[in-house]
Amino acid sequence: MGVFSSQSMIQVSYLVVAFLFIVGLKRMSSPVTAASGIRWAGLGMLLATIVTLAFMGASQTNLILVVSAILIGSVLAWVTGKRVAMTDMPQMIALYNGFGGGAAAAIAAVELFRGSEHSLTHLALAVIGGFIGAVSFSGSLIAFGKLQGLITKSIRFAGQKFVNLLILIGTVGLGVVVVFGINDAPPAISLFFALALVLGVAMTLPIGGADMPVVISLYNALTGLAVAFEGFVLDNAAMIIAGTVVGSAGTLLTQLMAKAMNRSLGNVLFANFGEGSSAACAGVNGTQKAIEASDAGVMMAFSQKVIVVPGYGLAVAQAQHKVWELCQLLIERGVTVKFAIHPVAGRMPGHMNVLLAEAGVPYELIADLEEINAEFETTDVALIIGANDVVNPLARTDPSSPIFGMPSLNADKVKNVIVIKRGQGQGFSGIDNALFVLDQTRMLYGDGQAAANQLIQAVKAVE
Ligand code: NDP
Repeated sequence: MGVFSSQSMIQVSYLVVAFLFIVGLKRMSSPVTAASGIRWAGLGMLLATIVTLAFMGASQTNLILVVSAILIGSVLAWVTGKRVAMTDMPQMIALYNGFGGGAAAAIAAVELFRGSEHSLTHLALAVIGGFIGAVSFSGSLIAFGKLQGLITKSIRFAGQKFVNLLILIGTVGLGVVVVFGINDAPPAISLFFALALVLGVAMTLPIGGADMPVVISLYNALTGLAVAFEGFVLDNAAMIIAGTVVGSAGTLLTQLMAKAMNRSLGNVLFANFGEGSSAACAGVNGTQKAIEASDAGVMMAFSQKVIVVPGYGLAVAQAQHKVWELCQLLIERGVTVKFAIHPVAGRMPGHMNVLLAEAGVPYELIADLEEINAEFETTDVALIIGANDVVNPLARTDPSSPIFGMPSLNADKVKNVIVIKRGQGQGFSGIDNALFVLDQTRMLYGDGQAAANQLIQAVKAVE
């Protein structure tokens, strides 16, 4: 076959694939280049798939099966990806991520059932990858069920952690049997995978739905790791690289999310956060004072500087376009407008940035917590829309609060605060918000989009 054997063609192509993945990841680090980053990484995945198919020397039957699977998967992903609402994105990621873990586990299962021709190292790698992939698969499906509202209860019972530990020990024990006694171990292999799947379910069921985004990020990292292990088993460099990139990026993201909430990963996995936690908090005294949209509009129209703080409710209400329309009116009147983004506002990292970018808000008007926190003191109006926990001053002042220590936006330092939300509902952490009862705070009750629309009319009505 001349100078270029199919093996060297594959290796060279995988090098290009690795380059494309890394360029893609690098570009994802800024909102300006993120969309093109996704395309670069997607191109890498396409190349990896084509090269693997072209050179794998599959039988015709296998090729038909593989191509059919790719076609079905692509159509399903395309249709669901187009349709999914921004607020449903975390569960969609959970589902796709789970399939990745499942695919890694399936590769491990095929290799293990194939039997004795493998070395011990090979078998051990397949078992470890299969274990992680299976846990990630079933755990991600439970996370999906919780976020989609299909599983509404967090199932907990006394001694649960001990039971989970027993399942873990059982799975690891069977994994060892599979590695060392492969010739007569098919039932052990089946049982090993069954227990690993049960472990994923058992680990995830007790965790509150509200903590699922962090858990999904963790499973995402685990899926990457599982794929990398199976890449070693199949001697496939593209899988090793892609898996390692996903594994390390997922680990960093999980750490960042936990850090921005000032919580440890152990706390996320075992503490049942946000469920009944309000009892632990000292409480908030005072009553909320309502304001009419017309008065709020006048207040904003005659101010010099307004900081908008978006939160999860903005995403629920899909109010980003109306909010930007309102801000443009204010800017036309000479008001300085900025957007303050808390690192965990919404329900996934970058949630608010994506929404604001979608509405066309220029990046230079958007500031992170560290950049903007000092500016609140010199601001006339803070417009809080659908945000709650991220502007709760108790995070700074009440050591008994479950969110104490979490960085918070200093909206309480502003002369006038307008809060748009539907009612007295609590945020993700399930605690009351001391900002809402301060003297300078006024509540504009209503759905985020409708309220923003009322403010637009009110500002337009100002001479
Ligand atoms: P919160 O979840 O604290 O509060 C959202 C508020 O929006 C609620 O109080 C609700 O009040 C209001 N709301 C809901 N729907 C609407 C609507 N249609 N119109 C107007 N308001 C609405 O949101 P934050 O963004 O402030 O905080 C995010 C929380 O999520 C933090 O505690 C963070 O730790 C957590 N988290 C974030 C993750 C991330 O990666 N970003 C991941 C996991 C958790 P009402 O019902 O009265 O309308």
